[in-house]
Amino acid sequence: MSVPFVDLHAQYLSIKSEVDGAIQDCLNTSSFIGGSKVKKFEEEFASYVGSKFCVSCGNGTDSIEILLKAMGIGPGDEVIVPAMTWISTSEAVSSVGANPVFVDIHPDYYTIDVTKIESKITSKTKAIIPVHLYGLPCEMDEILSLARKYKLTVLEDCAQAHGAVYKGKKVGTMGNAASFSFYPGKNLGAYGDAGAMVTNDEGLAETAGMITNHGQKAKHDHRMEGRNSRLDTIHAAVLSVKLKHLDNWNSKRRSTAASYCELLKDAAIKLPSSPEYSKHVFHLFVVQTDDRGGVMDYLTKKNIDTAIHYPSSLPFVKAYEHLKLRRDDFPVSSVFQEKIISLPMFAELTEDKISYVTEMISERTGRASLKVRV
Ligand SMILES: *Cc1c(COP(=O)(O)O)cnc(C)c1O
Repeated sequence: MSVPFVDLHAQYLSIKSEVDGAIQDCLNTSSFIGGSKVKKFEEEFASYVGSKFCVSCGNGTDSIEILLKAMGIGPGDEVIVPAMTWISTSEAVSSVGANPVFVDIHPDYYTIDVTKIESKITSKTKAIIPVHLYGLPCEMDEILSLARKYKLTVLEDCAQAHGAVYKGKKVGTMGNAASFSFYPGKNLGAYGDAGAMVTNDEGLAETAGMITNHGQKAKHDHRMEGRNSRLDTIHAAVLSVKLKHLDNWNSKRRSTAASYCELLKDAAIKLPSSPEYSKHVFHLFVVQTDDRGGVMDYLTKKNIDTAIHYPSSLPFVKAYEHLKLRRDDFPVSSVFQEKIISLPMFAELTEDKISYVTEMISERTGRASLKVRV
């Protein structure tokens, strides 16, 4: 048996006729940029998230950067971001000329540690970007209350959490605005790069929309300098088809996670956990072990693909060497990065493959209960 890390082809086959028809329709009408299909997807996505406005753009990184720019964040400003995330989050902050300020992560939830944010707030802090990492919503009540106390803007990075829910609220609806990525491997993915922003703030949506299209309010009416970051029509058509399946795919991911947890409950590894008021959508299923190299090699030999998200937390990647950040300031993420393994996770993963993965992990790690007895 072999188990891939993700299987986008299996997903395509499951929706082939719908998606082929949607793409063919773009070709038949020669509509490639903008148009009614893009507008339709924006409306559908805003309604799915429960936000008033959705502005599509070229990719998830742009969606963070464009929102920061539209919020007026720039040189001299500081923006709080988690230490463990994909680099887009901090990159977007630097791209608008502001400075990312890293905060360590929660030891069990792996999202930004809300008890460590306040000490990083200065007179220059303008915003917080909570990242709903791996599909688990951040502790938003605490983040929003800090934001009120210090008058900070909150930009939710929802790139890994389409459809996740925190205390009855969908991610993307709690901050001032939110960014989404539709990179092909995300829970909702296009067939290339794509992204979107959502907000209830009409002015912010309008500015962000202008930035995506050369600062134009109407054709040739450039109110400002913007850029070219647009959602291609073909991607919008694909996303409209896929959005209808998202809840179903997310529940399959959740049941795969439940099976993993059940079958691995005695294995000598740390499983993901989430508070009962949060609905985790498991973009990734991340476990921790002291024997990462051994477990990954063993699984590779058994034809099971795994990955690491991410091999280094951001304070310690070369790009941020100049900040001279110390491991002591990031005690959780600096250890976490050395123990994590992402297991295969996608909606089409079958029960027999899930069992095979868990058996091979238990074979390598042994059972925690046995270890305790020895
Ligand atoms: C994927 C991702 C992004 C950016 O998405 P792209 O569409 O690849 O630019 C941003 N933040 C996080 C946390 C991500 O995982």
